[in-house]
Amino acid sequence: MADVVVVGAGFAGLSAARELTRLGHDVVVLEGRDRVGGRSYTADLAGVPVDLGATFVGPTQDAVLALAAELGCESVPTYGRGKNLIRWRGRVRSYRSTIPRLSIIELLDVSRIQWRFDRISKKVPVAEPWASPIAADLDAISLDDWLRSVHAGASTRDLMAIMARVTWGCEPRAVSLLHAVRYVKAAGGLGRMLDVEGGAQQDRFPAGTQQIAVRMADELGDRVVLGAPVQRIERRPDSTLTVATAGGEFSGRAVVVAIPPAHRAGIEFEPALPPEHRELARHWPQGRLSKAYAAYQTPFWRDHGHSGEALSDEGPVFITFDVSPGPAGPGILLGFTDANVFDSLPGEKRREVALAGFAALFGDAAAHPLDYLDHCWGTEQFAPGGPTAAVPPGSWTRHGRWLRAPVDAIFWAGTETADEWTGFLDGAVRSGMRAAAEAHQELIRRS
Ligand SMILES: Cc1cc2nc3c(=O)[nH]c(=O)nc-3n(C[C@H](O)[C@H](O)[C@H](O)COP(=O)(O)OP(=O)(O)OC[C@H]3O[C@@H](n4cnc5c(N)ncnc54)[C@H](O)[C@@H]3O)c2cc1C
Repeated sequence: MADVVVVGAGFAGLSAARELTRLGHDVVVLEGRDRVGGRSYTADLAGVPVDLGATFVGPTQDAVLALAAELGCESVPTYGRGKNLIRWRGRVRSYRSTIPRLSIIELLDVSRIQWRFDRISKKVPVAEPWASPIAADLDAISLDDWLRSVHAGASTRDLMAIMARVTWGCEPRAVSLLHAVRYVKAAGGLGRMLDVEGGAQQDRFPAGTQQIAVRMADELGDRVVLGAPVQRIERRPDSTLTVATAGGEFSGRAVVVAIPPAHRAGIEFEPALPPEHRELARHWPQGRLSKAYAAYQTPFWRDHGHSGEALSDEGPVFITFDVSPGPAGPGILLGFTDANVFDSLPGEKRREVALAGFAALFGDAAAHPLDYLDHCWGTEQFAPGGPTAAVPPGSWTRHGRWLRAPVDAIFWAGTETADEWTGFLDGAVRSGMRAAAEAHQELIRRS
């Protein structure tokens, strides 16, 4: 018996548990996997920690930055010295800054679309996007429908497709325009979301992001139970909530469910959740994004004046970064890969196509790494998907208002429920803090 049972030991669940503990409550955190961190998962490549999930943080992500600082997890700037590369329409060219080297006509079109996107976002309140007078129109179409309706050029559409793949793990046709606009606004705009310097990719943690979760879990000690997928949450006649896993039952006066909305459907609720909540879980699917890493003796691309940052219109590797520990090596290239093409390939083939993608950008030396690793979030056995939800047309206006509406003493956390930096680590931490405050109020009310 605890005061609060928290479901999920990602950044949201652990932040909620930590905050509730700080407020003097007993908590237990039930995690379905055999590790904490959720979509933050750090592995080892050639002796270097690499993040298979979340990697980067940036300015205005104050919640996760404060948490990392408090736990003594140090970040470093993302390497960005030198020229970036763009592989576009069969040619590889170099450029500086975040504006890729395209023709002047293409660049003007990109600016025009960005301006229109920003203008729409002014009319969408992040906390209640369905309340916008144009919500129904924006939610009736996909990002792709909109791009076509405003006659975006082919290069602009391809750039927006790359943004959709890396941001939501889906194609522009799969995501509602209302969701796209609201999500980008919650990150502070397109520039803030996509930039390295001054943006969401500005810094990273040399020891990986999962260490932040591990340190939170260490603080919580045996209050965190691993290998405990929650199957059922039942309200007892005395108002306590029983949370059942295959290994046993836990009870609390409140529950914080800190998992993506789509995964709520995997839990049986007794009494059943209101239909609005059940529909929400069915219409808030997770996207699918994959990553490939290659390690080399040194970051050899730096010798050629390249930053290691690249963009490609030919998959499956479509964005790269240099995440090497230093100039002496090993050199580490991170590539985001298109799950649609990548995930169904056998391991050897995935390695072959990812290295071919690196080599097309950085030369033949990139085809011969010391070590290689990839990870497909869409094919995870338990709680698959990520980086975040790819919310389709119609979902926000029909189901959005239930996203974090409590049911009895059940509260909802997870980055998808955040108003600031939703989809990111920062949003996850904020959502955990918000759900902890709600559960705390409920416990006070009941006591
Ligand atoms: C490839 C990739 C790259 C990313 N890059 C970045 C980045 O650079 N910067 C950034 O800020 N963010 C990034 N993200 C997003 C970031 O990882 C997430 O926003 C964040 O980790 C979400 O945290 P969360 O706690 O809300 O959810 P999760 O991390 O998903 O945690 C939920 C936890 O609940 C568990 N769970 C689910 N169902 C149950 C159940 N029934 N019972 C028990 N446990 C359950 C899961 O196993 C999981 O551990 C990336 C994500 C991916 C996949």
